[in-house]
Amino acid sequence: MTAGTVGLVLRYHSLTVHRDFREILAFDREGRLYTAFVDGRTYRRGLDNRLVRTVAVDGPPGARRRRRELQGQERDRFLGRVRGTVREVADQVARGGARVHRLEEPRGVLPDLDPGSWLERVLRWGPEELAADGLRFHQVYRPVSILPPDQYLATVVQLTEGCSWGRCTFCPFYHGTTFRIRPQAELEAHVAAVREFLGEGIALRRSVFLGDGNPLVVPRARLAEVFDFLSRAFWFPPFELRGRALRRWLRENPDAFAGIYSFVDIFTGHRRSVADYARLARAGLRRVYVGLETGSQELMTFLDKPGTPEAALEVIGSLRRAGVAVGVIVMAGIGGDRFAAEHVAKTVALVRAMELGPEDLVYLSPFVETEGLEYSRRAREAGIRPLDQAAIEAQLAELRAGIVAGNGTGALVSRYDIREFIY
Ligand code: SF4
Repeated sequence: MTAGTVGLVLRYHSLTVHRDFREILAFDREGRLYTAFVDGRTYRRGLDNRLVRTVAVDGPPGARRRRRELQGQERDRFLGRVRGTVREVADQVARGGARVHRLEEPRGVLPDLDPGSWLERVLRWGPEELAADGLRFHQVYRPVSILPPDQYLATVVQLTEGCSWGRCTFCPFYHGTTFRIRPQAELEAHVAAVREFLGEGIALRRSVFLGDGNPLVVPRARLAEVFDFLSRAFWFPPFELRGRALRRWLRENPDAFAGIYSFVDIFTGHRRSVADYARLARAGLRRVYVGLETGSQELMTFLDKPGTPEAALEVIGSLRRAGVAVGVIVMAGIGGDRFAAEHVAKTVALVRAMELGPEDLVYLSPFVETEGLEYSRRAREAGIRPLDQAAIEAQLAELRAGIVAGNGTGALVSRYDIREFIY
């Protein structure tokens, strides 16, 4: 091993190994690599063993990150290199030549694993073992197509498969997946399989994300049964706890999950009352992500997006009155030149009218045109010119400025690039 500073940072849920801070590798409690920074490049490894490398490059806003999935031998070489580094670090630790920091994180909890045994767990995983683990993932999960950025490290539970609507013309997800609700017995077996698969690595994934596209469409009585089951299978803080009391409870219960999170679409969300949401909140529901996309009715119709801006406002109001936080997702660049001005004006006005609070999120998602989208065909036929990358970024900045200016209560407004997602 080249000489240099070697350090380990232990947290309750993760181990980070670094060499001169130029090579930084992070592992869960099972020893699975999940992220790395090596030679100026960032790597993220999914539970399915996909490995995506991101490099920062010069370029216009929105094109400053180049991503590439490493596959086959290239991926295995990288994973082999990681294992080699860890082997050398383990030797150095055994000789007492590494700095070890124990952080009281997350939630003020000290790590309970010692460095040597954690590194041993990491060393169990060579490229072949990780490939086999990726295959196991596919026995436990249907593809996990997308999550909101703050939930990339959630424990996903797939109550449904696909999306009950599936016709929004811009949506690249769930094609070829027939919508289906898992029967209760199957759901319970799925959760058991998820827990077994993640093992102690579940400590890194402290929230439950209910998949797939629109699981709150499940009928009321069944949903109550599902939430009851989830609050027994996982373990959520009491609904009434807030602020300091909640933080203390979480510190005292390091194995608890923050709560249940889910997508909902306007047409489904609108069918639920405040009382419905309040019942779910008491059983663990903490935040619901609403795919608004736009505040323009005309553009919604063009996108085949069911619902109306007024219904969206009501859904957000009902959720917030029930004590459930919201994540509002807005697209930038959708509708091209034809809708640009109306899209920005009406979306900003609608999001402002939601009067979001500090626990809420607004995600601005640049439209990514993928092959074969119905949207592209219809836009071409309608003579709509797509916005180029610079114009999409300009629109994103305009949306952000408008929303932030009217955002007196401080909801976090941030970017949501669906190309960054890996589970
Ligand atoms: S409702 Fe959501 S998941 Fe379903 S097709 Fe529309 S955008 Fe996609």
